[in-house]
Amino acid sequence: MRARIFNANASSLAGELPIEASLPQVWVDDARDAERARALISAFLAPSPAGPAILCPACGEENPPSFDLCWSCGAGLER
Ligand SMILES: [Zn+2]
Repeated sequence: MRARIFNANASSLAGELPIEASLPQVWVDDARDAERARALISAFLAPSPAGPAILCPACGEENPPSFDLCWSCGAGLER
């Protein structure tokens, strides 16, 4: 999924800019990726359950235990 991150380092300007101008933003190139991107962001922000990283069965990438989909290829992760 192709995406761009805006305002990654703008939090130091909070209070000097309108709040929406200083919060980080993730923009996906393809609108069809929006739901998947939201799911990944929610999983990333959720408190991480303790446990080992999960290896993706499709690409072998390491994923945090809170992820249901591989961050790299989008495949479902097995528990
Ligand atoms: Zn994968």
